[in-house]
Order: sequence, then C-alpha cells, then structure tokens
Amino acid sequence: AKAAGRNTFRFYDEAMNRRARLRLSFEADLRRAAARGQLELFYQPQLRGDDGALVGAEALLRWRHPERGLVSPLEFIPVAEEAGIIAELGEWALREAARQIADWRRRGVAVPRVAVNLSARQFHAPDLVERVTRILAEAEVPSAWIELEITESTAMQDPAGAVRMLQRLREHGLEVAMDDFGTGHSSLGMLRTLPIDVLKLDRSFVQHLPASGTDAAVATAVVTLARQLGLAVVAEGVETPAQRAFLADLGCDRLQGFLFARPLPAAEVEAWLLRHRG
Ligand code: C2E
Ligand code: CA
Ligand code: CA
Ligand code: CA
Repeated sequence: AKAAGRNTFRFYDEAMNRRARLRLSFEADLRRAAARGQLELFYQPQLRGDDGALVGAEALLRWRHPERGLVSPLEFIPVAEEAGIIAELGEWALREAARQIADWRRRGVAVPRVAVNLSARQFHAPDLVERVTRILAEAEVPSAWIELEITESTAMQDPAGAVRMLQRLREHGLEVAMDDFGTGHSSLGMLRTLPIDVLKLDRSFVQHLPASGTDAAVATAVVTLARQLGLAVVAEGVETPAQRAFLADLGCDRLQGFLFARPLPAAEVEAWLLRHRG
C-alpha cells in the first residue's frame, strides 16, 4: 500500500511537471507569436440600433498557433497578463487595427470606426496617451476612427487615475467605451464622474432577454441612465431577433452579436459588408 501511495504521489508529481512545462512552452510560444506573424485581428461588426447601418467593428485578437490552431483570447490573454507581455500584445493590436482601418478607408470600404480593447496594464501606463497618439499618427489615422474599450474593473482599479487618464484621452479626441458594464463593482454613481462616451451593456444582461423580467428591468435602467448621461449604448451578445427588437425599442444606439456576424477576419468583414449592403 505504501509503494502504491508513493507511485500515486509520483504520478501527480509528473502530471504537475508536465502541466508546468506545457504552460512554460505556451508562454514562450506566446512571447514569439507577434514576431512570427501568428497574431491576427478579427472584426465584429456593430450596427446602428434603429436602421441596422454599419457603425463600426470591434477588433478581437486571435492567435494562430502552428499546432493548436486558432487560440481564443480567453485562453492566452490571462497568460499574457501573468507573463507581463499583455502591453506588447495590446500595442500590436492597436497598430494593426489602425493599419487596417486606414487601408479600408483608402480603398473605400465603409467601416466608420474600429474599437480596440485595452488591458488594465496598458490603460494605467503613464505614457498611454503618447503611445496611442504616436501609433495613430504613424498610421495616419484620425483619433475619431478609433474607439478604445476598457472594462469596468480596469477603471475601478484606480478610479481617480482613470478619471485623469480618460480626460487626457478625450483632449486628444479619443472616445472610450466602458466594456462589460454591470459585471464589475462600480456604482452607478461612478458613471457620473468617469468621462466616458460609450457604455457596453454586458452580454450576461442581454442573453436572457426579453423573457427574463429582471434582466429586462436591468437593461432598461442601464439604457435609460446612459442616455440621460449622454452616453451611447452598445449591447453586446445579441443573438436573436427578439433581443434585437427589444434593445432597438429601448433605444440602444448600437448592437453587436452573432445575430449579425461573428468576429471575422478582415477580408471576410469586407465580404460581409457587400452582402449587408446588397
Ligand atoms: P469582450 O471584449 O467582451 O469581447 C466580446 C466577446 O464576446 C468576443 O469574444 C466575442 O466573440 C464574443 N461575442 C460577441 N457576440 C457574441 C454573441 O452574440 N454571443 C456570444 N456567445 N459571444 C459573443 P472573444 O473574441 O473570444 O474575446 C474574448 C475576450 O478577450 C474579449 O471580451 C476581451 O476581453 C479579450 N480580448 C480580445 N481581444 C483583446 C485585445 O486585443 N486586447 C485585450 N486586452 N483583450 C482582448
Ligand atoms: Ca471589448
Ligand atoms: Ca465586452
Ligand atoms: Ca464580455
């Protein structure tokens, strides 16, 4: 029995080592992903609530791993955060989004703006404004073509610092959306003090619409408050025509979700646009 115990222990030990090694090689691969051209941005269209016109697209990172295939950001963003390389990935994404919208505009592809996600580390970096404006200047992209998304929890890590940073971004004409609204721990009162332009209603509040009376009440309250504060509202995760109708009736400015399109590679967004128009 003792020997068996030892063997079991050794087995766990080896399994743990194996996991640790896998994790390390994953991290090492991720560090080299950008240089090896394995990172890619997908784009998910955002439609105007009332008439369905294309108003923008959210850029979402993908990693084309040679053996694992397309890796989800839900898998590699947390690793990048722990490994301290999230800021590099985020900068790559911003640079690529700027290059892409400049290319689209040059070729007459009607994508009004692209929303780019910022990690907490990026947002709270003292030189964020300089970094962003330099990237946009290099790509010859006016600030109005780019929207930045930060999550509610990013802002709440340092609310006073967030207010100052948002003011500086605004001075440069950069609009900021608060992502995943309602999932963090900010009070509704915070919305008054944070100089943001757009509020993204989290998918968890959209998912059970319109059947769920509580979620309908929450969505209605959030949209009403946002409108009174002069913020635009984006509903994310719209999957059904009933959700679309409910949210459009509420006065949601923009809708985003699988009902319209999944996140797509840049070339497929162009094809989608042609179909959407035609
Ligand atoms: P997010 O910013 O909340 O992005 C929306 C996520 O919801 C995307 O997942 C999108 O594919 C998914 N989604 C959109 N519509 C629907 C729908 O109708 N139904 C369902 N079930 N899902 C929908 P994705 O692309 O896997 O990204 C996951 C998260 O990874 C993002 O959540 C964001 O937090 C993070 N992420 C992605 N790209 C970046 C990036 O460039 N920088 C940073 N810091 N984070 C990123
Ligand atoms: Ca987002
Ligand atoms: Ca979101
Ligand atoms: Ca979300």
